[in-house]
Amino acid sequence: MSHDYRALGLKAGLEIHQQLNTKEKLFCGCPTLLRDTKESNFEFFRYLRPTQSEMGMVDRAALEEVKLIKKFIYKAYDTTCPVENDEEPPRELNQEAVECSLIIARMLNMNIVDELYTMRKIVIDGSNTSGFQRTGLVATDGYLESSAGRVGITVLCLEEEAAQKVEDRGDSVLYSLDRLGIPLVEIGTAPDIVSPAHAREVAEKLGMFLRSTGKVKRGLGTIRQDINISIAEGARVEIKGVQELDLIETIVEREVARQAALLEIKSELNKRKAGVSDKIVDVTSVFAETTSKVILKALKGGVVYAVNLTGFAGLVGRELQPGRRLGTEFSDRAKKSGVGGIFHTDELPNYGITEDEVKVLCNAVEAEVNDCVVMVADLKEKAQGAMEAVIMRAREALEIVPEETRRALPDGNSAYMRPLPGAARMYPETDVPPVEITQERIGSIELPELIEERIGRYMKQFRLNEELAGQIARSENFVIFESILQQVPNANANVVVRTLETVLFELGKEGVNVNNIKEVHLMELFRLHADGKIPNEAVSELLKLIAVKPELTVEKAVGTLGIGGVGTGELEAAIDKIINSRMDFIKDKGMNSAGPLMGVVMKELRGKVSGQEISRLLKEKLSKKLETFK
Ligand SMILES: [Zn+2]
Repeated sequence: MSHDYRALGLKAGLEIHQQLNTKEKLFCGCPTLLRDTKESNFEFFRYLRPTQSEMGMVDRAALEEVKLIKKFIYKAYDTTCPVENDEEPPRELNQEAVECSLIIARMLNMNIVDELYTMRKIVIDGSNTSGFQRTGLVATDGYLESSAGRVGITVLCLEEEAAQKVEDRGDSVLYSLDRLGIPLVEIGTAPDIVSPAHAREVAEKLGMFLRSTGKVKRGLGTIRQDINISIAEGARVEIKGVQELDLIETIVEREVARQAALLEIKSELNKRKAGVSDKIVDVTSVFAETTSKVILKALKGGVVYAVNLTGFAGLVGRELQPGRRLGTEFSDRAKKSGVGGIFHTDELPNYGITEDEVKVLCNAVEAEVNDCVVMVADLKEKAQGAMEAVIMRAREALEIVPEETRRALPDGNSAYMRPLPGAARMYPETDVPPVEITQERIGSIELPELIEERIGRYMKQFRLNEELAGQIARSENFVIFESILQQVPNANANVVVRTLETVLFELGKEGVNVNNIKEVHLMELFRLHADGKIPNEAVSELLKLIAVKPELTVEKAVGTLGIGGVGTGELEAAIDKIINSRMDFIKDKGMNSAGPLMGVVMKELRGKVSGQEISRLLKEKLSKKLETFK
């Protein structure tokens, strides 16, 4: 896409939610571990309804969801405590999480509050058993440097993670309580982002800062990005739930394209003096003899309603994002009333609806050639709600790009979720005492080494190449890597990195229980390796045995596997035997026979003697043998 983003007046901001890897949850002592929902040992349910006085405070976004009040079912575990069930008040703020949020605030050059107050933010989607999310403002007004200048960091909050939605059953929603209460930092940037590539850069940099602390959770779902995007004359749209960094650029590109296309449609509509009637017409009789399966199915107890959009012909079918049209936006809104979708004459005849039926339909709503008729087939009440939603969205198309909260789709498009919420209203959480943050505490915060700096240091200090240095510096294993090299200074850093990052990972994939392999095993392993007692080829086999029998010392395991049990004499004898049985081959190929012969020897002695040692001895013996032929 070749948009000139500055000319379009693109403004974007990020909101990042990152789970912290603390031992305990934010307001109770339960572990921050995700569970398999099959391990759940009890369920309970709630109907969450805000009280009338609270409802007065609920904004339009929340209200839209109240329309669909549901039963909420919670899966609980042997680790679930009464705080998570909302049967006991929250405990004091987890100090490990506070400390971590302060470190991040300092890294982002932010002003830290004197007192951290915990507040309540009403949530009515059932994602919290208490009916609100607890959140505390930690810092404001920082920045980070980027290729397009400084990007402001407006807020950093410490929050509790919501319960994980497991299943939406229509009339009820199933949640799992394991995730509820895991500490989370929410970081919001100013709308200083100026292009899709810039959005990605800023997200990457924030992610790098967060991971540099060594105190954040890793893996899918532990970090989520929301992106605020607007262009001049467009509107602020918030796209929620982006989990992949790779998608950020596309999301921004596609939202700019969507808003630009909506503005073009608006200007075209105004040129045509287009309008939207509020007359919803019952056109069920038009389809009395239809053979369209979709319509027939809906007509069992249902109706067909239609509305005429004057001057909209061709524009409802116009693409806003690849595969998504203005009609898709109508459909997204209509679906909130529970219908499966809508039809419009820009795409008809189709779906078994005939040309004749379309003609009669147009007559029924007095549509002319420049108009577009939108219709829906469903139960009366749903169809009515759907048509009202379409009328509202069509009217917006005449005037504005609507402010919306949208959901990121896997291909980089987005779909309507709800109106953009106003500023969240907060109430003090009186059960949690405020935490004073003294200047002394702020002054004593040690800033972590950034991953970028760590890579450079590893290359210099351990002579790792850039790839291996980057791999281990970015990994959670960097702590154990450093500890190994500190305790075994002559360890081979290359082998340590490969073992931690590749060997253990592959063993885990094979189903080996690598959790049984402890730091003490690794220390011993690399000590023996550094002393030349374990060949590289044996590392994987050794670890596999230790995973099964963690009570063994590495030395015992070496004995069990017969590693190093091959003495020099035995090795020489094996090589001699192989050389002597292939004399013709050796005469023919000379020193070039070393490669194929190496393979034969390795096959016999793999893992027992290092490949290096075999190769050295084999070449020595070969060249001696070849001497005798001269
Ligand atoms: Zn708990």
